[in-house]
Amino acid sequence: MQYQCPKCQSRKILPVASASEPAVRPNVPKSLVILIPAIFVLLLLVVISIAMWAFGDGAGQTLQIATVVVFLICAGAGVMFWRDLPDFKISMQAFMSNNRHWKCRDCNHEWNI
Ligand SMILES: [Zn+2]
Repeated sequence: MQYQCPKCQSRKILPVASASEPAVRPNVPKSLVILIPAIFVLLLLVVISIAMWAFGDGAGQTLQIATVVVFLICAGAGVMFWRDLPDFKISMQAFMSNNRHWKCRDCNHEWNI
């Protein structure tokens, strides 16, 4: 099965949840739920640290500890996500093939499989 619009062949398609046939949501692993915000926090802390190094006397100790802690959380969640990845892929594929109603983002064409 190919995931593209039958009208304009675009690959920018969206699953549309229908009330009569609710799509089974993919199982998003908890590690991914932790990993994404942790990466954002880590980036933020790194940017703050760099700014403090550039404009001040260097990053404070609390900030350094916080950066290390958040980095460890990222690394742990990353390893867990790596392990969850095969299951996550299977559940995403099941979601893609179970979903019957699609919409194209380029031409707004909607169709059922
Ligand atoms: Zn289209």
